[in-house]
Amino acid sequence: MKICRFDGDRLGLVEGVRVIDVTAALDAIPPQTWPIAMGDPLYAHWPAVAARIQEVKGAGESHALADVALLSPITSPTKIMAAPVNYRKHFEIDVKTDPGVDQGVHIQQLEGVERPTEKFGVFLKAASSIAGPSEGVRIIRPDRRTDHEIELSVVIGKTCRNATRENAMDYVAGYTLGLDMTLRGQEDRSFRKSPDSYTVFGPWFTTADEIADCGDLEIWLKVNGEHRQRTSTAALTVDVPDLIALASGLYTLHPGDVIMTGTPEGVGPVKPGDVITAGGTGLGDMTVQTRD
Ligand code: MN
Repeated sequence: MKICRFDGDRLGLVEGVRVIDVTAALDAIPPQTWPIAMGDPLYAHWPAVAARIQEVKGAGESHALADVALLSPITSPTKIMAAPVNYRKHFEIDVKTDPGVDQGVHIQQLEGVERPTEKFGVFLKAASSIAGPSEGVRIIRPDRRTDHEIELSVVIGKTCRNATRENAMDYVAGYTLGLDMTLRGQEDRSFRKSPDSYTVFGPWFTTADEIADCGDLEIWLKVNGEHRQRTSTAALTVDVPDLIALASGLYTLHPGDVIMTGTPEGVGPVKPGDVITAGGTGLGDMTVQTRD
């Protein structure tokens, strides 16, 4: 299934170029009382919601996909984890040849390190940085460089602690495309990558059963129609099962938590007014406007 959030907080089932309003299925989520459970209730109760979607979709209003405003399918993760320098060519081509990317912060530590994410771990982005495609990205400091980073993003479906490489994929609910927008500079990553709208998820959530091999997807990004990034996820240095094992070895992953798997080569600056388009095999494509 492909599930979107659209036009306010409607829940949509994406079928081809149509969106069927299945908001009625949200009644499968039990009422929340304080303190609310960790994670995103949509993913914590996904099996029940998925079954309810099948019951209500026949009565759902159908919209043209082109006519709806797409929002992030993930709303309240406890953590957005992100892998640093997880494609070899991103280091060789971007970090080493463009001083504006690293700004002298990590480059010396990275030289000769085969699997940087294992050595340095994942970093966190604030949940408040999430935006959907229709909301766009507000460039926080136009006097400095903000770069695009397209990333395969893995949505956790079940509470997960100490997963192994062998059982890691059992915890995956599905996938979405992510833009890890990044203010370049010398501050900590978690600060530079967490301004409002600097984490774009979309165009929708694709359930894991629709993706035969998340280690063999093509992802791409263009700015104003010009190709900037394209890779197969086969080039990931630390792959999805190892990322889940690594992250869950240190902290509990909750439903709706997201692991952004890292960006391939070709990162570069965007300025207010640019239009980012991004897509991935089986994940759809999205258009994201930048603004000041
Ligand atoms: Mn990134």
